[in-house]
Amino acid sequence: MATVWHEAELIGQKEEAKGTNRFWFRILEDTPLVYEAGQFLTFDLPTGDKRAQRWRSYSIANNYDGSNIIELCIAYKKNGLASEYFFNTINKGDKVKFKGPEGTFLIPSDIQVPIMMIATGTGIAPFRAMLQKIEKDGMRPSNIHLIFGTRTLKSFLYQEDLEYYNHFIENFKLSVCFSREKKIPKSKISSITYHSGYVHDVYLQDKKINPSKTLFMICGYGSMIDDAVSNLINQLKVPKNLIRIEMFG
Ligand SMILES: Cc1cc2nc3c(=O)[nH]c(=O)nc-3n(C[C@H](O)[C@H](O)[C@H](O)COP(=O)(O)OP(=O)(O)OC[C@H]3O[C@@H](n4cnc5c(N)ncnc54)[C@H](O)[C@@H]3O)c2cc1C
Repeated sequence: MATVWHEAELIGQKEEAKGTNRFWFRILEDTPLVYEAGQFLTFDLPTGDKRAQRWRSYSIANNYDGSNIIELCIAYKKNGLASEYFFNTINKGDKVKFKGPEGTFLIPSDIQVPIMMIATGTGIAPFRAMLQKIEKDGMRPSNIHLIFGTRTLKSFLYQEDLEYYNHFIENFKLSVCFSREKKIPKSKISSITYHSGYVHDVYLQDKKINPSKTLFMICGYGSMIDDAVSNLINQLKVPKNLIRIEMFG
């Protein structure tokens, strides 16, 4: 089947943290483009002649609401082709071509299975969309533990949203790991914890989970995912079918 390409117009952007921006696009279609929380789109950007130079995928960071407005959360990579385009070239009103939605990194159909979400940096994007949906639809998960790795307090993406979901999603726990923060904040809420170090320390030390009955969902860049998958399989003896990953590169 021939690929269907859509068009979207940049309607706004905002710095979320140094080197990471949120971008809002309006999809230029009469009918809303339906997608599932956790899916991604692939853009064909004016950044070269070859497909490898032009095509870049981004997770949709907001839940589908019928408005045809999508949010992306993009980290700038020095000399990256798409990074230069999104951060230094594109202007409000400019149009981009994309295909999708695609992807199977989704909220599981059985929300009663305990879920551990592990993300670093912009890997939070698909989880943000999923949590938005869980909250909006009033889903009642049995247990969701989000472990989010970030360098410092200043680079903590979607802090407000994640702390909000902590109040409005049942059985939702948030652990934030700061790898380069000198002053680790103290949380006043028992279901939010702040740590010094990496995401791996938190799930490896979580005595409350049953690793053979928990769904592990991991999103971010390759090395973090490789380490997490190896730890889960070798140390926690998690069955492979309970590990789902979305790898950014
Ligand atoms: C399913 C999926 C979802 C994704 N979702 C997101 C998301 O939500 N947010 C997000 O920020 N990213 C996401 N990504 C990653 C995104 O697609 C891009 O890979 C990322 O934005 C970098 O693209 P770029 O064109 O800026 O960098 P590239 O041009 O691809 O370069 C990447 C890095 O390699 C370096 N590099 C490039 N060429 C060379 C070379 N010849 N020699 C040495 N170094 C080189 C660059 O300097 C840069 O640091 C996702 C990826 C996938 C597959």
